[in-house]
Amino acid sequence: METPGSQSSLHRANLERVVRAVRLAGSLTQAEIARATGLSAATVSNIVRELKDGGTVQVTPTSAGGRRARSVSLSGDAGIVIGVDFGHAHLRVAIGNLAHQVLAEESEPLDVDASWSQGFDRAEELVNRLVEATGVDRAKIAGIGLGVPGPIDVESGTLGSTAILPGWGGIKPAEELRGRLGVPVHVDNDANLGALGELVWGSGRGVRDLAYIKIASGVGAGLVINGKIYRGPGGTAGEIGHITLDEGGPVCRCGNRGCLETFTAAPFVLPLLQPSHGPGLTMEGVVRLAREGDPGCRRVIADVGRHIGSGVANLCNLLNPSRVVLGGDLAEAGELVLGPIRESVGRYAIPSAARQLTILPGALGGRAEVLGALALALSEMGDSTLLDGCAADGARSATPAFT
Ligand SMILES: [Zn+2]
Repeated sequence: METPGSQSSLHRANLERVVRAVRLAGSLTQAEIARATGLSAATVSNIVRELKDGGTVQVTPTSAGGRRARSVSLSGDAGIVIGVDFGHAHLRVAIGNLAHQVLAEESEPLDVDASWSQGFDRAEELVNRLVEATGVDRAKIAGIGLGVPGPIDVESGTLGSTAILPGWGGIKPAEELRGRLGVPVHVDNDANLGALGELVWGSGRGVRDLAYIKIASGVGAGLVINGKIYRGPGGTAGEIGHITLDEGGPVCRCGNRGCLETFTAAPFVLPLLQPSHGPGLTMEGVVRLAREGDPGCRRVIADVGRHIGSGVANLCNLLNPSRVVLGGDLAEAGELVLGPIRESVGRYAIPSAARQLTILPGALGGRAEVLGALALALSEMGDSTLLDGCAADGARSATPAFT
């Protein structure tokens, strides 16, 4: 047994801090590791050498600010993580390694009327197919991140009612997938995973406080505070879609009137255009037509942007994030929607909260959630198996032999 505070347990703790920082970021220079962990440059240098000798990390030459540096990432073959994302009409699976490289990714349409057991059958099949195709060792799968388009109760892991996949409410998605695939599964809602995806791989890189706003059939936000997803005790933080904009407005699915969602989500926006543009119009179509110059679609997108901007202004006044990332179909409209969002934020947020804010479209498009699921699996896996070799060496060198 190691004594807390002994040299060997301190050494082990430092190893864990470095491995954790690299695991979450993908790759870091030694200077960045020192900043992220609070360890001295000399300690980081020694630890990186030890981890490299033990095969836990790989070190490659890079440049940082024009200067030569060494980029540290976990060894690609140290472990495998899997992301599974159930969307409103799709199922997407990605396989990645601990160096944050995506080895395979595939999506297929998912019938919205499919029962939850059919949905999980398809997910199980697709995961097995991609594992086989990439030839990864099943024993190296460290965990699965799973995204679902509805609220997850933090205590019980139960999926709340979801308008997007009716009939799925009340199931325990992580337990279901764990039972089928036999590896640890961590579950979260799509907005939180979109936030994680953009934070680790996309428009939120390098930022510690971020709000990801997803506008699709509903409106949700994933909040990152000081580098971590903020879920709240019940898991419902970020319900930005139900901020009241107009007490006399349309009735929302939550039972209130004039929620932000009733001015911005597809079921409310599309009917405004269908009389003039035909019944088959989709949100994707509205964005495409607006980009081609259609005045009606441009007007509707600008209105949606201004409404989202009021919600973002409220969010800024409460949380003061440094970046807001817009996801979902609407993000493809670029400045047509971002301009009006910025205009509303400028009008309604207090200047000190808006000053340091940048509003960007997501960089990952429809992949944000599945990459966020990979990031979730990476953040939830422990480091114990990764450090087995090194810790034994560290303990040997730091403690006297008792035999
Ligand atoms: Zn509502």
